[in-house]
Amino acid sequence: MCKELRPSGSSLNGMLELRERSGLARIARLSTRHGTVETPALMPVVNPANLIISPKDLAERFKVSILMTNAYIIHRSENRERALQEGIHRLLGFDGPIMTDSGAFQQHVYGRVDVSNEKVVRFQEAIGSDLGTALDVFSEPDDSRETCQAAVEETLRRCEEALQWRGDMALVGTVQGGLYPDLREACGKSLSEMPLQVHAIGGVVPLMEGYRFADLIEVIVAGKKGLRPDRAVHLFGAGHPITFGLAVLLGCDLFDSSSYAKYAYDGRMITPWGTLKVSQLKHMTCHCPACADAEPKDLRENVRLLAEHNLHVSLLELEEVKQAIHQGILWEHVERRCRAHPALLEALKTLRRHVDFLERYENLVDGSLFYTGPESIWRPSVHRFRRRVLQRYSPPEAQGLLILPEAPRPYSRTYAGILQRLYRKAKAHAVVKSAFGPVPIELDGVYPIAQSVLPRQLDVEVIEASEIFLREFVRLGHFAFGMLWEGEETLEELAKRAPGAISLDMDMARARAIADHQFGAGASKHLLRGKVEHVKSRKTGKIRNVYADGEHVLSLRARDGLYTLKLAGGVRLHKAFKSPRLRVLVSEESAPFNLQGKNVFAKFVMDCDEEVRPLDEVLVVDDADNLLAVGRALMNREEMLAFQRGVAVKVREGSKPL
Ligand SMILES: [Zn+2]
Repeated sequence: MCKELRPSGSSLNGMLELRERSGLARIARLSTRHGTVETPALMPVVNPANLIISPKDLAERFKVSILMTNAYIIHRSENRERALQEGIHRLLGFDGPIMTDSGAFQQHVYGRVDVSNEKVVRFQEAIGSDLGTALDVFSEPDDSRETCQAAVEETLRRCEEALQWRGDMALVGTVQGGLYPDLREACGKSLSEMPLQVHAIGGVVPLMEGYRFADLIEVIVAGKKGLRPDRAVHLFGAGHPITFGLAVLLGCDLFDSSSYAKYAYDGRMITPWGTLKVSQLKHMTCHCPACADAEPKDLRENVRLLAEHNLHVSLLELEEVKQAIHQGILWEHVERRCRAHPALLEALKTLRRHVDFLERYENLVDGSLFYTGPESIWRPSVHRFRRRVLQRYSPPEAQGLLILPEAPRPYSRTYAGILQRLYRKAKAHAVVKSAFGPVPIELDGVYPIAQSVLPRQLDVEVIEASEIFLREFVRLGHFAFGMLWEGEETLEELAKRAPGAISLDMDMARARAIADHQFGAGASKHLLRGKVEHVKSRKTGKIRNVYADGEHVLSLRARDGLYTLKLAGGVRLHKAFKSPRLRVLVSEESAPFNLQGKNVFAKFVMDCDEEVRPLDEVLVVDDADNLLAVGRALMNREEMLAFQRGVAVKVREGSKPL
C-alpha cells in the first residue's frame, strides 16, 4: 500500500524532512534549488514594482530565508521581459528560495484572470521560480456545493496538466473545496496522488478577513486529512501573526505575508494579539529593532518603519511558535493566543471535534501541561489518557471504589494516609475524579497527569465534563459500587459494605497498570510474567528498572512515568501480541542494519501498526515477523509510509549485538 504512494525518481527540490514535531505541528527542512528553508516559515510577499522593504534588506536585516512574489502580476507588468531574461532571483536581488503565486487570488479579487494555466506555469518555470503554483480555481465561502465541486475538478485537472510544464520547478497544488470538508479532503487526497512537491490551502482569505476562524479550522483540518503528511503545506494569505500558532498546530508549514506592508499603508500596527491604529499609539509598546529608538510619532509618519515593525512582530511570532514546538507546549501557546479574539476562542472550542484525528499525530509525551481554560481538557494528550484508561485499564481485585476529589499531584502522596487506611479496612480501590477524567491511583505518575498544573477553582464546564468521564468509567463495571469521598465516614461506610482488607503491592500494581496503559490491555501479563523485581533509585526511591525472571524487561522514566522497552521486554511482547501490534515492518535492505542496532529510516518502512504514535516504544520486524530490534517511533503510520527522508524509529537495541 505504501509503494504506490512513493513517487519514483523525485529530486530533492521541494522535499520535506521532519526535525522536531508536536502533534501535526512540525519543525522541518524544506529543500529547494536555492537552499534549505527551516519551516514553519514566513514568506514576505514582494512586489518588484513597489518595494517597501527591499529583498536584500529582508535577507540581511530580517534574516528572511524565503520570499513570495506573484508571477501573475509580474507577467502583466513591465518587469515581465526582465524576469524572463534575468530570472526572478536577479530581478528581486534575492539568492534564497522564491515561491510564486499564479493569480488564483486575483481571480477572487477581480472575478477573473486573463491568463491560462499553461501560460502562468510556463512563465514561473521560465523565470526560475523554486516553488511554482498551478492556477487553481478559487472558491468563495458562499459558493454552492456544485460550484465548489466544479472548482475542485478544474483545479485537479490543471494541476495534472501543469506537471508537463514544470521542468525542475517544485509544483504547488492547492486544495480547494469551499466550506465543504468532504470536498476539501477528497481534493487533498487526489492532489496527494500526483507527483507534486508542496500543497497549499486556498480560498481562505475571505474567512480570515471575516474572522471566520471556526470555518478556517474546518477547512485546514479537512485538507490535512486528505493530504499526505510528507509534503509542506502552505496556508495562502495568512499574514497576520494572530493565526500562526493555530495554523501550525494544524500542520501548516508556510505562510505568506503582504499584511506587514498593507497594514502599514493603512496606518495599523500588528501585534501578536491583534492590530492597533498608530493614530492611537501613545506609549511605545514594542521594542523590536524598528521600534527601539522610535517614538509613536515616528511610526505614524514613517510607513516604512511601521512596515518593518509589522514584519518583525510577524517573524517573532513564528519563532515563538517554533520554540513552543521545541518545548512541547504549543497547545498552551495557542490556547493563550486564541483568547485574543472571541472568534478565535470559538475556533479553539471547535477543535475538540477533531481530537481523534489530532491524537494520531500527538507525541506520546510532550512538555508540561498548564491548564489555561476549559478547552485544555480536550487536548489530544488528555483525550488519549482518558481513552486508554477506558480501554486498557484493569483494576486490582476489589469490590468497592473510593472516588477522591481533584488534588495536588502526585495524588498518591496527597492521599497516602487515606489510601493506607482504605486498604486496611475495606476491599476497595481508589480513583481520583480529576479534571482530565478518572485517574486510577496507580497511574498518577503517568503523562500528562503528573506533569499538569491546574488551578484549584475549576470551571463549571470542566466539573460537568469530569462527571461524565467518571460515569463512563464506572459503567465499565470494574467495581460493584462506588462512593464519593466525603470524609472519614466514607471509609467506615466502605468498610461496612466491602469488609476485609487488600494487600496491595503498590509497586506491582503500578508496574502492571502502566504496562497495560502504554502497550495495550493484557501487556502486563506477559511483560511481568515470572518473578518480578523492582530496582529503585537511591535518591528518589522511585522505580527505575523492572526485572522479570532475572531479565531486564523495562525501565521506568522519571520524567513522564512511562516505560522504556528493553530487548528482553520486546521479545515477550513480540511473542504475546500478534502482528501488526506494536510493530514497524521494514524492508529487506534495512533489516540487517536494524538487527545491529541502527535506526530505521522512513523510506524503508513497509508497514506499521496504526495504533503506533510518535514516541511510542515499538518492535522492529522483518517480512517474516522476526524481531530485529526495539526502539522508539518518531512518526505515526501515515508518516512512516509517506516520508522519504528522516528517521522513523530510533533503535535502542538490535537483536544481534555488534
Ligand atoms: Zn516594533
